[in-house]
Amino acid sequence: MRIFKKANAVSDFIRKMKSAGKSIGFVPTMGALHEGHLSLLNIAKKETDFTVASIFVNPTQFNNKRDYEKYPISIEEDIDLLENMRCDLLFIPPVEEIYPGKKLTTTHYDLGFLESVYEGHYRPGHFQGVCQVVDRLLNICIPDKLFLGQKDYQQCLVIQKLLDITDKQDAVSIVVCPTLRENNGLAMSSRNRRLNASEKNIAANIYRILDNLKQNLNKSNQEKIVMNSKNELAALGFKIDYLDIVKANSLEPAVQWNDEEKLVALVAVHLDEIRLIDNLALN
Ligand code: AMP
Repeated sequence: MRIFKKANAVSDFIRKMKSAGKSIGFVPTMGALHEGHLSLLNIAKKETDFTVASIFVNPTQFNNKRDYEKYPISIEEDIDLLENMRCDLLFIPPVEEIYPGKKLTTTHYDLGFLESVYEGHYRPGHFQGVCQVVDRLLNICIPDKLFLGQKDYQQCLVIQKLLDITDKQDAVSIVVCPTLRENNGLAMSSRNRRLNASEKNIAANIYRILDNLKQNLNKSNQEKIVMNSKNELAALGFKIDYLDIVKANSLEPAVQWNDEEKLVALVAVHLDEIRLIDNLALN
């Protein structure tokens, strides 16, 4: 695996690969890699000729300073994991390669409704930061396919919007990859490293409750089932930011839905100071 720290070097190398006819698959990450990240790489390897991963803990997407400072870092282990997966190129930029001139970018992206709800609402500025880093990484890594985890459901919609508004939608296609879970159902996440064993067991209830909601949802019980699910989470000690059933394509409220309309349940909770998100496609 080639490891680069300089943006120009990555772009030069990838351009050569592209002129040799190779398709480029890109998996951006913030490191502290787990099997969920590696599953994205695995899918990228099947779908493209040359796989590129990046590790960059992006300061502009953290709306909470403490979350940024506490974000787990395990670069040596990450490199070993990526080597074992036969990733072709790893980009580990220092901050100034992403935000040149010692200035965190202030580029603003018009994300509309998507930025006003759920993660957008509870983490002000988060999606602007995500777009800033992803836009820059796409310009550097010029992939044909971008592999993203369904775990961050709203982020997938936001990045599709980013491609549309930056006119990259024809050059890059998004592949949304399934959420990998622990045996107990807990969605894998780098932040899980900050949970102790008993907290991990409690956190597994998030998926259990989502799945229960999915099994029991019908057109007449939506409000009640959402309320019951919230009560159950609260009784387990979670502080709830949101739990809602929405239209899968737009995140608009699923008030009147027909059987063809795809729905998704979105949830964000805090367990002590750790914030956890998950989601489940309902039909
Ligand atoms: P992160 O390092 O948290 O920014 O995540 C990098 C990529 O991995 C994003 O596209 C995430 O959605 C994806 N990802 C994170 N956790 C999982 C998981 N449990 N299963 C599948 N993909 C994941």
